[in-house]
Amino acid sequence: MPTGHISRFSVRFYLIAATFSGKDTPTPDESDRFAGGKINLPGWRGQRAAPAPGGDGGPRLGAARRYHRLVLPFSAQTRAANLTRMAEDRFDVLVIGGGITGAGIALDAAARGLSVALVEKDDFAAGTSGRSSRLVHGGLRYLEHREFGLVRESLRERGILFRLAPHLVRPVPMYMLAGDLRSRATYRAGLAGYELLAAGRNIGYHRSVSAEQVREAIPGIGGLGQLGGRGRGFRYFECQVDDARLTIEVARTAQASGALLANHARVEELRGDGRVTGAVVADEMTGQRFEVRARAVVNAAGIWAERVTRLAGAGLAGASAGAGPAGAGPAGAGGVRLLPSKGVHLVFAPGAVRTTAALVAPSGAGDGRFIFIVPWEDRVYAGTTDTPYTGDLDHPGIDAADRDYILSAVARNFPGVTERDVVASWAGLRPLLSQDEELGDARTSDLSRRHAIFTGPFGLFSITGGKLTTYRAMTEDLVDRVAAALGDGSPCRTRAIPLGLHGPAAAAVRLARDEMGRLGLPPRTGARLVQRYGDDWREAARLISEDRSLGEPVVSNLPVLGVEVALARSREMALTDEDVFVRRTRLTTRDGSLGLIPSGGHRRE
Ligand SMILES: Cc1cc2nc3c(=O)[nH]c(=O)nc-3n(C[C@H](O)[C@H](O)[C@H](O)COP(=O)(O)OP(=O)(O)OC[C@H]3O[C@@H](n4cnc5c(N)ncnc54)[C@H](O)[C@@H]3O)c2cc1C
Repeated sequence: MPTGHISRFSVRFYLIAATFSGKDTPTPDESDRFAGGKINLPGWRGQRAAPAPGGDGGPRLGAARRYHRLVLPFSAQTRAANLTRMAEDRFDVLVIGGGITGAGIALDAAARGLSVALVEKDDFAAGTSGRSSRLVHGGLRYLEHREFGLVRESLRERGILFRLAPHLVRPVPMYMLAGDLRSRATYRAGLAGYELLAAGRNIGYHRSVSAEQVREAIPGIGGLGQLGGRGRGFRYFECQVDDARLTIEVARTAQASGALLANHARVEELRGDGRVTGAVVADEMTGQRFEVRARAVVNAAGIWAERVTRLAGAGLAGASAGAGPAGAGPAGAGGVRLLPSKGVHLVFAPGAVRTTAALVAPSGAGDGRFIFIVPWEDRVYAGTTDTPYTGDLDHPGIDAADRDYILSAVARNFPGVTERDVVASWAGLRPLLSQDEELGDARTSDLSRRHAIFTGPFGLFSITGGKLTTYRAMTEDLVDRVAAALGDGSPCRTRAIPLGLHGPAAAAVRLARDEMGRLGLPPRTGARLVQRYGDDWREAARLISEDRSLGEPVVSNLPVLGVEVALARSREMALTDEDVFVRRTRLTTRDGSLGLIPSGGHRRE
C-alpha cells in the first residue's frame, strides 16, 4: 500500500478555503498564529467568501441560511478562543483525551451545568476511537464468556445511540453460516438469548436463512457446499458507525452544550500540591505552554492513561493517599494498569469482496475467533486481529502475520481474493484492563471489555477499558462520581441529547435529496450528506449554492465532495491535512495510495 502526496487536493483546497464565511475564517492575526504550525495550505490565510449570489444564497436556501446562523462553528477560530479561555478561567472539570470517552465526558458534564475544558494531544478520534471495527453492537461473543451484564448494557446503549444519532448509527445485517446441527443449535440459542438481553431494544430479530438466501445477500461467497443440502445460516442485526465521525459529533455537541474543547493540545504535566488542581498544556500548533486550572481532572487518555497518571509533578509524587480503583482493579500508576491489544483491519477494492451484508466468519487459524467482513459504502473491510502489544503506542504497525490472518479468513469465504485487492488498512490498540500481574496463557481476546474508574492522586479520576458502544454509560458512571465529589449532583441528561441530527433521518434525507436536485446534484448526494453531517447537510447545501465547484468530488471516482473538506475546517475543527483526510472524510481508509500518511493512522510529526 503505497504512500505519497495528495497533490491533487491542493487546487481543491484553494477553492475550499476561499469559500469560508468571514465568521469562520481565521483573521490575519489568527492565521499568523498557525503560520509556523501544521496549517500550510494555499488560500488559508485571510481568504474571505465571495458574496453569495442574490445576497442570501438564493430564495430556496433561505431556510438553510437561517439555520446556518443558529449552528455554532467549531473551527480553528473556536479552538483559539477556547485555548485563550482555558488559560484564564478555572473549570469544574478538565478532561484529558478527545477520544469517544473524553468527548462523552465533556458532553455529560457540560449538560449537567459543570464548566468543562477538554484537551486532546492529537486530533479527536486519532487514538483508538478512529480505528475500531466500527460496530455499535452488543457483542454476541461475550455470551461465550458469560458476560451477560456487559452484553445487556451494550445492547441497551446500542438502542440509545441508534435513537440519538440515527444518521450515523445504522443497522447492518450480519450473517453466520452453520454447517452442522450442533453449530446451528448453538447459534440459535445464542441469538435467542442475545435478543432476550436486548429487552425490547432489538434492531431486528434473527432468522434462519437457506444457502440460497445467503448467496443472495452475499453474492461473492464461495464454499456454501459446507452448509450441505439442509445447511442453513443465520441473519441477525447490529449497527455500524463511522467511529471517528461519531466521536467528532459528540465533541461538537459537547461544545454546543458549553464545554470548551481543543485538539492538538497536549497535557505535559499534572499540577497541584497534595491534590491535582490542573495541568500544564502545550499547544502543539504554536508550542505555547500554559496551565489549565480545575477542581477535578479526568484522565480519559485510553491506552496512554498509565502515562498520564505518571505526569504528576513533584508536589503530587507522594500524594497517592486515597489512590486506587473505584471499581475492582490492580494498583499501579494511580491504579491504572493496561494491557494494550492490537487489532488490524484490511480494506478491499470495490467489487473484490462482493457482499451487501456483513459476514461473521471463523478466523481460519483454528483459534476459535471470528472475523467481521463488513460492507462500507462501495468497499468492504475485514477485521480484526487481537494480539498483545508492547510497541510504540503512537504508531501501531501492520505486519505480515496480521495481514495473513485477515486475508486467509476472507479468502476462505471469498475465493480468489488476494493481497492485491487490499487498498487500505488501519491498526488500533484496545485499552484493555490487565486483571492479573501475569497474563499467563490467557489471550487478550479473553480479557473483559468492561470499563473501570480509578481515583488518585486526589483530584484525578482515570477511566479506561470499555467499548465505543458503551461510551455513554461509561461517561455517566464517571461524571456521577466527579459530580458527587464536587458536590454538584444534577442527574445525567445524555440519554436525551441528540447527536447532530434533530428530527427523523428519513425526513432530513427527503429534504436534502430535493435540495440537491435543485442544485443540479444527484439525489444520492443528499442522502450521503445527511448520513455524514446530520443537520449540517443544510450548511453543505448553502456552501455549494455559493460555490458550485464544492459539489464536485475531491478525487475522481470517490464520493467525497469538496464541501466536506470545507465543513471539516469550519464545523469540525480539522486543523491539519491528516485531520481532514484520515478522520473527517476518511479518504485514506478508502484508498491508502491517496494518503499523505499511511491509512494505518500514523500521524505526521
Ligand atoms: C481494533 C479495535 C476494534 C474495536 N472495535 C470496536 C467495535 O466494533 N465496537 C465497539 O464498541 N468498540 C470497539 N473497540 C473498542 C473502542 O474502539 C474503544 O474502547 C474506544 O475507542 C476507546 O476510546 P477512548 O476514548 O477511551 O480512547 P482513545 O480513543 O484512544 O482516546 C484517548 C485519547 O487521549 C489522547 N491523549 C493521550 N495522552 C494525552 C495527553 N497527554 N494529553 C492530551 N490528550 C492525550 C489520545 O491522543 C487519544 O485521542 C475496538 C477497539 C479496537 C482497537
